[in-house]
Amino acid sequence: MQRAEKMRQVILKEPKNLEVCERSIPGLSEEEALIRVSYCGICGSDIHSYLGKHPFVKYPVTPGHEFTGTVVDRGARVDESILGRAVCVEPSITCGKCPECLSGKYNICRNLKVLGFQADGAMREYLPVPKDKLHVLPNGVDKLSGALAEPAAVAVHAIERGRVNPDSCVLVIGGGVIGLALTQILRSMNCFVAVVEDSSEKAERALVFGANTSFVFDEIGAKRSNEYLEREPDVIFECVGKNETMEFAIKTAPNGKTIIVVGVFPEPATLSISLVQDHELDILGTLMYTADDFKRALELISSGAIEPRRFITHMFRLESVKEAYETAIDPGGNSLKVLLEIGDGH
Ligand SMILES: [Zn+2]
Ligand SMILES: [Zn+2]
Repeated sequence: MQRAEKMRQVILKEPKNLEVCERSIPGLSEEEALIRVSYCGICGSDIHSYLGKHPFVKYPVTPGHEFTGTVVDRGARVDESILGRAVCVEPSITCGKCPECLSGKYNICRNLKVLGFQADGAMREYLPVPKDKLHVLPNGVDKLSGALAEPAAVAVHAIERGRVNPDSCVLVIGGGVIGLALTQILRSMNCFVAVVEDSSEKAERALVFGANTSFVFDEIGAKRSNEYLEREPDVIFECVGKNETMEFAIKTAPNGKTIIVVGVFPEPATLSISLVQDHELDILGTLMYTADDFKRALELISSGAIEPRRFITHMFRLESVKEAYETAIDPGGNSLKVLLEIGDGH
């Protein structure tokens, strides 16, 4: 097929040094498909690596792990029917050989690499992807909405880890993209959802996303949940990744309940482990997702349980990538999902 030889590609050379460069379009192996990227989101973890606070980044790297596009070419062992399809992609490279991969939990592969962090990601016009990481967008999910499938899959997996039952009461600490995706999914399960945020604006925004109630962190301090919630939470999701919010989760958790650690902690935390022991709390980590979670996320977008367009607050062209990052970082800006529009978008 006829296409350009060169493409534009974002490169994070080192912390705070982003450039848009010209690169050759890479060749394909037999098992790969070539994606013409349409949209790519900027995530909290991208900001951590931009600021030099991500513990596992190999610079220089092309960021981008939340993206959609169109399949424009294929290797010899990739079915022809995929050509021209709109897809999103699981951004992980896994070994397929370690005990976790063999048990199906490849999200915690011992040799895990994630596009945009330890391997080049999607902030570029063309990207080769292994065929088994492709997910064709279902009817009714366009490429703009599909760009939210990745963060939605994080939320789906976290809910699975928390073994949340329908109709239960859930406390979500942090009303960013993941916290609000959790909120929308949990509401679709008829759960009672309370969101805690650090400003009244963000607490109010959580109500727009369907939370039953919301609180400002400063005002409730470290009270136990029975002092400010009508119903005690069965599960608490920590989606911030800071010492004080994790400590709040431990202090507020009712005895015998579960805390799911969703937030990424750039620094070690000092926590009241004595309360974890004394209150018999379960603290569980959660990382990424597998193909089933990704499929479920697309179903939730398709059914309207998750509303991607509510999340997308800003959109920038690829050449304005620095401005896009500054917008996503600005603490006073109240941005939620900032997207790069890379290809034709259609
Ligand atoms: Zn992300
Ligand atoms: Zn593995």
